[in-house]
Amino acid sequence: MSTSNNLTIAAILAKIVPYLAQKGIRNPRLEADLLLAFVLGLPRVKLYSEWDRPLNPDEVQRYREIIIKRIQGWPLAYLTGKKSFLSWEFIVNPAVLIPRPETEELVDAVVTAVKGRKQLSGVDVGTGSGVIAIALAKLLPDSYWQAVDISAAALEVAQTNANNLEVADRIRFVQGDLLQPLLGTDQQFDLIVSNPPYIPSSQIAGLQPEIGKEPVLALDGGPDGLEFYRRLLPQVDQLLVEGGLVALEHGYDQREPLTALWNEAGYNCTSLSDLSGLDRILIARKCH
Ligand code: GLN
Repeated sequence: MSTSNNLTIAAILAKIVPYLAQKGIRNPRLEADLLLAFVLGLPRVKLYSEWDRPLNPDEVQRYREIIIKRIQGWPLAYLTGKKSFLSWEFIVNPAVLIPRPETEELVDAVVTAVKGRKQLSGVDVGTGSGVIAIALAKLLPDSYWQAVDISAAALEVAQTNANNLEVADRIRFVQGDLLQPLLGTDQQFDLIVSNPPYIPSSQIAGLQPEIGKEPVLALDGGPDGLEFYRRLLPQVDQLLVEGGLVALEHGYDQREPLTALWNEAGYNCTSLSDLSGLDRILIARKCH
């Protein structure tokens, strides 16, 4: 079959980029490119070296379908099945929250806070795709991790990511509610890290359509968004060694209530803001 009448890479992008822009996609060029590269199984740069390559009807059809899903609010990361986080690429699917840049800052903050400490044992609570435990296992080469999640489907994604990134021998994945499965086992930890759901329930419905495709379980923090921090505190207190650290990501307006909560329980708190200047991370040291 002749392909002379078929759209080239250049021609289809010339149609799709303005279409995505018109539909309110914020980075239309980037997203049109990444989705086409995904459909064609090419790295993005290859689109430019194959600019005049004609697409076959099947490729055009698959690109159309994926563009429609994007317009319907499916996030780019779920459509391509991957998301980069710090220096690594993670597999994602709708069973897990898509890792955010703020969480990269949480990981950086933890690495700075434990600098020079050897043989750390840590827990990642609500591991989702596994990004926190996996990135920290990569960055702290003699650290050992337990990564807990209530969702079996999320743990499957996290385990695959740990295998792909070659840290599976230092992370044990455990199914359960917060730290429940580790209580009563005599284990103690130097470090407990979490990015728990922290959006107040009443705000969930008004979020951008993309966020609406993410698991509500990973987002909904109860009536005031603080439910998980309250439930975590007594569990953390049982499992952390004296002098141990808890590092938590939180909502931009939650620094004060969270600091009060942890101070009251005998923890020394340090707060960090994210790259947008919003309060985002609490690091608390157990002083008893
Ligand atoms: N720990 C995962 C992340 O930070 C998942 C967090 C969540 O589902 N709330 O991306």
